[in-house]
Amino acid sequence: MSKITMAQGAGGERMQDFIRKFVLSELRHDIGEIPLSALDDAAVVEGIVFTTDTYTVKPLFFPGGDIGLLAVAGTVNDLSVMGATPMALSCAMIVEEGFDEDGLLKIMRSMSAAADDAGVSFVTGDTKVVEKGAADGLFVNTSGIGRRSQHLDGNIERVRASREYEWSWPNDSAIADGDVLIASGQVGNHGVALLSFREGYGFETSVKTDAAPLNRLIESALEAGGVTAMKDPTRGGIANLLNEWAEKSCIGLTVREEDIPLNPSVISACEMLGIDPLEIGNEGKVVLAVVPEAAEDVLKAIRTSPEGRQAGIIGEATSAIDGVVLETHTGGRRLIEPPVGDPVPRIC
Ligand code: MG
Repeated sequence: MSKITMAQGAGGERMQDFIRKFVLSELRHDIGEIPLSALDDAAVVEGIVFTTDTYTVKPLFFPGGDIGLLAVAGTVNDLSVMGATPMALSCAMIVEEGFDEDGLLKIMRSMSAAADDAGVSFVTGDTKVVEKGAADGLFVNTSGIGRRSQHLDGNIERVRASREYEWSWPNDSAIADGDVLIASGQVGNHGVALLSFREGYGFETSVKTDAAPLNRLIESALEAGGVTAMKDPTRGGIANLLNEWAEKSCIGLTVREEDIPLNPSVISACEMLGIDPLEIGNEGKVVLAVVPEAAEDVLKAIRTSPEGRQAGIIGEATSAIDGVVLETHTGGRRLIEPPVGDPVPRIC
């Protein structure tokens, strides 16, 4: 009899197969302007944007943050990348018997601080305690609802001044030939920060998690206008994000290695560990596809946010190729494949 494997939760192709087999084939999912079957960051149902995420990060505390910060940032960002303004969150916790009360208070306070930062409140939740050994300390689920951003109509008008655009929400299927790809900052930091704190690794690094709510940065991008799609490069990293976009939008994507913002400490940690920084998950980054006429304005708008100071143009969409191609430092070209497993499991 087949058993579930870690790879099926890793954010790559095996997870997509898992979702098709166990979720899309088994659960009724026939509503939504952006429905479940779109497998996007959030769904849109009668104008309400809705998303949910469960956090199983290990360890619970890591350089620059903890599971509480992640649980707010991740859900706020999944709403924001659909072009929504977050309205309210839920919080459900599964706590293992014996968990330290002070640790739990610390996590709740960082959740609260992140929600303050994002300007959202909690409106519902659930708490469960399970016996020792039945959970790994603490698991947290947050869901969130959002409403259409006040800047989204203006954003789409600017897209339509440049090219045909049939969508009323930015989404993974909406990228077309010529769209410019912008990354909001350095990639790979979160995964490397986690690994440095994990048992059995324990290497020295100054790298901290990038986890942060990005709703303000994203609002400023929409206000500038011309954004066709947005996505946060979480599990599977930027390699997975670009492959999902290429597949769903039926378009080729080219990115330049020298333009992808990378922290030198992340590069050396990845070399040491033999992992690809482009496959590592991030929790405070967004990649945007923008019509070329608006790219400089969107970039400028993003750079005004503290989380977007290192934003840059990393590539573009082109119908001249299939799949995702990386132009390397040395002038070569290599295909970026969708990650199969996860180089750093349980990062979120
Ligand atoms: Mg997401």
